[in-house]
Amino acid sequence: MLQVIEIFASLQGESSFAGLPCVFIRLSGCNLRCSYCDTTYAFEGGEWLSVEQILSEVEKFNIPLVELTGGEPLCQKESIQLMQVLIDSGYRVLLETNGSLSIADVPQEVIRIIDYKLKGSGESGSFAEVNYELLKSGDEIKFVISDRADYLEAKRWVESRGREGFNLLFSPVSKRLKPELLAKWILEDALAIRFQIQLHKVLGIA
Ligand code: SF4
Repeated sequence: MLQVIEIFASLQGESSFAGLPCVFIRLSGCNLRCSYCDTTYAFEGGEWLSVEQILSEVEKFNIPLVELTGGEPLCQKESIQLMQVLIDSGYRVLLETNGSLSIADVPQEVIRIIDYKLKGSGESGSFAEVNYELLKSGDEIKFVISDRADYLEAKRWVESRGREGFNLLFSPVSKRLKPELLAKWILEDALAIRFQIQLHKVLGIA
């Protein structure tokens, strides 16, 4: 059984899949407490559902793309089984994870979108180094940037550790850093990363 906050359909707001219709499964619980967290309601509570019940809810939307999010989905061990069942049922599966827990058991077919927490998050240093070696082609690393210091830290990471095959995403923290300022810094440095903005917030949808 998994503790589920909500299952809903929306446009994917982040990652290289932004703009695509997607079903979101938001699991309960998180091991971090980021200063800018906008899903604190997912820290606890939710409804206990079996993998079969979750699959049945997902099927109602008739959308082929599914994302596990939270909270932190990997806090619940059964999330691994859920991802495998979704893959076996023909879904394209994304995992949004905060980067602090190992992705070793996540099925290979799943596209992992991994946060690298910067100082402005208040959870700097939480990245599980084992995940760097476990990244595969098509996976994504996301830097959520609060200020210039965060930007420079993310830039240093990209220049020293970025490698072929996985996507790098820079995103401004809503109401902390002006998106146009982040865009300007990226262009000035000609950084080979993808700028993103939370599309669902721009649209005012879930
Ligand atoms: S990892 Fe995500 S859900 Fe957890 S506190 Fe940070 S922003 Fe919130």
